Amino acid sequence: MKQSTVEPDLIAANKLLQDLTAAERIRWAVETFGRHAILLSSMQSSASVLMHYFHSMELENEILFVDTGYHFRETLLLRDEFIRRYKLNIVTLYPELTPERQERKFEKKLYLFADGQKECCRLRKTVPFLSHMKQHGRKLAMVGLRRSEGGRRAKLSPLLQDPRTQGYTLHPIFEWTDKQIQMYLEEHDVPVHPLHRQNYPSIGCECCTTPVAPGEDPRAGRWRHLVTAGDEGPKYCNINCSDGSGI
Ligand code: SF4
Repeated sequence: MKQSTVEPDLIAANKLLQDLTAAERIRWAVETFGRHAILLSSMQSSASVLMHYFHSMELENEILFVDTGYHFRETLLLRDEFIRRYKLNIVTLYPELTPERQERKFEKKLYLFADGQKECCRLRKTVPFLSHMKQHGRKLAMVGLRRSEGGRRAKLSPLLQDPRTQGYTLHPIFEWTDKQIQMYLEEHDVPVHPLHRQNYPSIGCECCTTPVAPGEDPRAGRWRHLVTAGDEGPKYCNINCSDGSGI
């Protein structure tokens, strides 16, 4: 596998990547960055698609999964299913403190408070991810974010610089619709997070995720307990630099 320290020209790379297929974009990442190109997986449906691409392309690059300690049991079981079925190189990352030790240290459950949630997501998601990226010299993270999710993601470009890692984030399926995701998963019989079928279009930690009602925004179930009158509450955990304020 080629390993390169080449710094791609962002404008030229985006022009090239724009018209490629998802598989060609992933191949470009691996040929450009070798083992320093990784996939960051949330275990949601877009991640299932990308993990299946890693399987079908026989990639041994790392697939990073951050176990916050607050995940649904179904999320952890899905990770295990992908390892069992496809023998993927899934690496589970952990925060420095267990949930119990964090709660003792801060004398509260951080996620219950608007300012605490930001710190909780930072400590339990962003820090373990960035620490791994820096410690192992990883340069490009592939993520399953898509334009059709709307909000801050509506104008995603294929490739983005991530100043946090001095590297890049690649969105191999940035232009895919929900229908394309669904069709791919069905066609290839890929395991899907079971809560998606129970009105959870977006899934994070169990204590910060609820199902959505018909007609609600797909992300309305995230941090619903922090929504107050006149304030829609947090929408992103910011582990992805593409979501803006995590930079
Ligand atoms: S989603 Fe909730 S529990 Fe999970 S890391 Fe963020 S604030 Fe903490």
